Amino acid sequence: MRSLQTEIEQRGARIFELVDRHPEPLFSKAGFYQRLMALSMRDERFKVQMFRFVDVLPSLRRSGDIVQHLDEYFTDMRNGLAPLVRTGVRAAKIVPWISGRLLRWNVSGMARQFIAGKNPDDVMKTLRKRHEQKIGFTVDLLGEAVVSEKETDEYAARCLELLEHLARETDGWSDQLDDSAELFPVVNLSVKISALYSQTNPADPADAIAHLAPKLRPILRRAKELGVFINFDMESFSHKNITLDLFKTLFAEPEFRDWPHAGIVIQAYLRDAEKDLVDLIDWGRARRTRFTVRLVKGAYWDYEKIKSTQNGWSIPVYLQKPESDVNFEALSRVLLENESIVTAAFGSHNVRSIAHAQALADELGIDRTRFEFQLLYGMAGPVKRALVEMGYRVREYCPVGELLPGMSYLVRRLLENTSNEGFLRAKFSDNVSEKILLRDPNGLVRGNPDSVSKDRHLLDGASLDVPPGDVYENAPLVNFAYQQSQEEMRAALRQVRARLGKKYPLVIGGERVWIDRTTASLNPSAPDEIVGDVAAAGIPEAERAVKTARDAFAKWSWTPFEERARLLERAAAIMERRRYELSALEVFEVGKPWAEADSDIREAMDFCLFYAQQMRRIGRPRLTQHVPGEESYYHYWPRGVALVIAPWNFPIAILCGMASAALVTGNTVIMKPAEQSAVCGAMLMEIFEEAGVPPGVLNFLPGHGSVIGAHLVDHKDVDLIAFTGSREVGLKIWESAGITRPGQRELKRVVCEMGGKNAVIIDSDADLDEAIVDSIYSAFGYQGQKCSALSRLIVLEENYDRVLERLLSAAASLRVGNPEEPGMTVGPVIDKTAYERILNYIEIGKSEATLAFQHQNVPAKGYFIPPTIFVDVKPNMRIVREEIFGPVLSVLKARDLDEAVKIANGTDYALTAGFFSRSPANIERAKAEIEAGNVYINRSCTGAVVGRHPFGGFKMSGGGTKAGGEDYLLQFLLPRVVTENITRHGFAPEETPLYRDEFRVRG
Ligand SMILES: Cc1cc2nc3c(=O)[nH]c(=O)nc-3n(C[C@H](O)[C@H](O)[C@H](O)COP(=O)(O)OP(=O)(O)OC[C@H]3O[C@@H](n4cnc5c(N)ncnc54)[C@H](O)[C@@H]3O)c2cc1C
Repeated sequence: MRSLQTEIEQRGARIFELVDRHPEPLFSKAGFYQRLMALSMRDERFKVQMFRFVDVLPSLRRSGDIVQHLDEYFTDMRNGLAPLVRTGVRAAKIVPWISGRLLRWNVSGMARQFIAGKNPDDVMKTLRKRHEQKIGFTVDLLGEAVVSEKETDEYAARCLELLEHLARETDGWSDQLDDSAELFPVVNLSVKISALYSQTNPADPADAIAHLAPKLRPILRRAKELGVFINFDMESFSHKNITLDLFKTLFAEPEFRDWPHAGIVIQAYLRDAEKDLVDLIDWGRARRTRFTVRLVKGAYWDYEKIKSTQNGWSIPVYLQKPESDVNFEALSRVLLENESIVTAAFGSHNVRSIAHAQALADELGIDRTRFEFQLLYGMAGPVKRALVEMGYRVREYCPVGELLPGMSYLVRRLLENTSNEGFLRAKFSDNVSEKILLRDPNGLVRGNPDSVSKDRHLLDGASLDVPPGDVYENAPLVNFAYQQSQEEMRAALRQVRARLGKKYPLVIGGERVWIDRTTASLNPSAPDEIVGDVAAAGIPEAERAVKTARDAFAKWSWTPFEERARLLERAAAIMERRRYELSALEVFEVGKPWAEADSDIREAMDFCLFYAQQMRRIGRPRLTQHVPGEESYYHYWPRGVALVIAPWNFPIAILCGMASAALVTGNTVIMKPAEQSAVCGAMLMEIFEEAGVPPGVLNFLPGHGSVIGAHLVDHKDVDLIAFTGSREVGLKIWESAGITRPGQRELKRVVCEMGGKNAVIIDSDADLDEAIVDSIYSAFGYQGQKCSALSRLIVLEENYDRVLERLLSAAASLRVGNPEEPGMTVGPVIDKTAYERILNYIEIGKSEATLAFQHQNVPAKGYFIPPTIFVDVKPNMRIVREEIFGPVLSVLKARDLDEAVKIANGTDYALTAGFFSRSPANIERAKAEIEAGNVYINRSCTGAVVGRHPFGGFKMSGGGTKAGGEDYLLQFLLPRVVTENITRHGFAPEETPLYRDEFRVRG
């Protein structure tokens, strides 16, 4: 008997022979497209610019804009293509209206390469042609990015229309092969699940299924009546479990249980694909009806890798291409060995993968009519033809729709076709030999495939050649797409709920101080629920805390920085251990949705770990200059007693960030949390105590700002005040700290971060799918209570109507409710005062501008404010000038970018800002001109990450410090230089070390 490999090679050779009989370039349409692809494969930078240009083109309406973008994208290219491109651009500028049209026509042609038709009528032409060629079809409706329920309803309606149309138009068509035709209905529709519910949250599969199932049932019902096959496509990893659960839920329902014409996709590039497939097969056996699995490698490889790396998640896809190939073959075996319950559809253009499936089927005695090959429209035409000639069933995946909604599909195809790793490029463009193409992928996997470089962990941060943020690897976020994470969070919520109402003391000098005066911290979702009763310090306790901190200072300031850094690292490790519990507490105490709470804990951990690393970077005295005969070392001393006053909106992160910076630099600390989040503060104190902070070094002093705030700020023994909070309080502190009191040793240092009135500008060429989703999130995520939140959306006139229409329906789709439920975007505002203040601003807005939208579905109990949008807003109105700190968004119209930037900058604040555009020139301008401490381009303006986005603003937003940045610790330190003449009688050592040990007192 011949080996499987020999069989594969033989079959592969046969396919290649048939392919070569009809030689065809990689891309069936020659001309413009082919030339662009060839250039892209030669030059990575050109490829990036080209894909970006293609991406923006459909949204450009005027020829002049097209030529302008062409110029911006390509004229500064410095490579062999530059002269060619420059000549093209120059020519285009001379007659823009012709060149604009020509370009659009060419790019549409490029899209037509992959999009089988603009509408159901149009696609029928292609399907008829294919039918004659004995190639079947599955049709996919383009339009993946839905931002609102209105758009999902439209998608569902279009699916139904398409079903009817296809069934009608193919009446009388028969299957390409006579045998096993009952398994393969002629009409086959591929459905994108993400397009049917705009609020899918991976943390809440039950909610997603509850919304998706009712949208799908009418489609499935009609498909069943019409004898149509329905396939659930698979998209990004975050949607995977929901899609699988939805499939199993729907097709187990009595109505659909006996229906065999349903299929789903398994992506072999996922590490957990085999487990999912085996689970599906078990489910299918229990259901006792056939179903289909389309096996593919997966279309979102780059996206998954980027997203996971950004969030610190384990990467769900294999990292080596041959691993995906090996897994594809392993899963092909699982499918074929279970042929009695599952029909296999192999979705691949790779001749090796295809030949393997064929050879394996033969080995297992499975007739070739009982499975099929599926290939994409516009790709690998000769392979399709070869497979038909060999007597296999072939189905083509045919996207239908306009270019604009189809853009992400087009870009995925362009990426796939130009990928260095891809089969199609290797075979049809790089002419790699058959022998190499048919190699067993098992032999190509390099050793230790799972090892992801951890080099950054190994760096001690002492190198000055590497950006400080870059030697730091952030703590990961919890990925709520995993069921286990969801269960742990639920368990933590139960556990924390059980201890609501506990009492919490002050902690001074390591002692628990119980006093009669307490403040009840309430759950803003249910204000009758007391989260905790926290002691409220008065003047005597404040005095005691200052004295204790002052007494502890000398010893702590001489403690080696390494020991202080380790304290922070131990605290971070404890937070990691108690992570879900801390997140759950934030849900109850400050109304944070799950993911927001988790990212607060992540940020707190990051502050500890980043500042520990930064302290190691600056802790050792450093030589100022190499000068013979003298050495001067620059180093730092702590300032003394630090008073940390924190807000409630990032109740653990900001408190921890300021306190840990003060501690690691050798200051002793009085930590005053906000009254509304004092239990979170008590938890942080507990964590530092467990981590081993010495008594008196960190003191926990909750209390009312009005009682102890001014006393502490003005205290002669407080040397530094780290404050984050409102402008009103911040400015008072700034002013008061400038007064020197009798007995005061140091000039007080104030680290001050205040609010913002943040703007986002949407340019006329912006990608609205992204701009809308990110603006909605920036404005309404955590109820608009982040200091970075968007409150002024400035839209260029040209785009205004389109943006507004989508924005309002996206806001109407938001989930508002108790954040104990997973997947809520908008919860309650923090307390009654905030509630009343925001409602008052809404009334002011109604009198000044036009109320365009107010959410209807808001719980009656709790401090829930409906997300609200105002239009017809002018820059001088109060709702645009004053900080509201709630879910209220003003939309302003701007004539052009000049006016938009002027409006954005026309505020007292300068914290965050955003800009959505695809014009390189405008992006450069925004980068240069927008006045904000953190400017974000083409992404949301909230969610700064420690080390990556050092955070903080200027003007009335703050004193210019950057939390989580390389300069931050310097605020907590006094620089000092020690110079020694090291010459003795004309003799001096030749070398002076760059760093030396810390200066130490004799102990
Ligand atoms: C009919 C059809 C329907 C499809 N439906 C879906 C769908 O619903 N969902 C979906 O996600 N995909 C789907 N795809 C798959 C996807 O769009 C690609 O076409 C497919 O992954 C290309 O694989 P290949 O075997 O043709 O080519 P090959 O060139 O052999 O494989 C390329 C693939 O290998 C993987 N890869 C590339 N680099 C690496 C690396 N460094 N490490 C690990 N893996 C790597 C990627 O998945 C890449 O797409 C479908 C494909 C077809 C043909």
